[in-house]
Amino acid sequence: MAYDPSNVFARILRGELPCKKVYEDEWALAFHDINPLAPVHVLVIPKGPYVSMVDFGANAAPEEVGGFFKAVAKVAEMLGVNERGYRILANAGPDANQEVPHLHVHLFAGAPLGPMLRRVSAG
Ligand code: AMP
Repeated sequence: MAYDPSNVFARILRGELPCKKVYEDEWALAFHDINPLAPVHVLVIPKGPYVSMVDFGANAAPEEVGGFFKAVAKVAEMLGVNERGYRILANAGPDANQEVPHLHVHLFAGAPLGPMLRRVSAG
């Protein structure tokens, strides 16, 4: 899938839409999800135009990949969730219900998060 620069996270990166910022550096921006599904629900996005983890892994420079994952770790540390625990999730494509076509990881924490995933069957 080609990157669509009109997606909502691209607009946040360009400053066209507001966000509740948690962290920002050269490689990544982290902000609170507008519709939180846990007491802590933060999104971390790379600054470059990547649709998914496959796109990112295939096309981003090693510094971008490293910078992004270091930012994810930094955000978990800053939020103070490392000891009690947290969950990181990245949706890609229709089977995963990816809504925003700019790579993002969700960081959930702040309460017991329950099972990893409800069981799904092939179909
Ligand atoms: P996904 O299904 O993984 O693509 O998730 C997209 C997430 O982006 C959802 O959890 C939305 O609540 C969140 N979201 C959409 N628009 C915004 C926004 N303007 N600011 C913060 N979060 C947003």
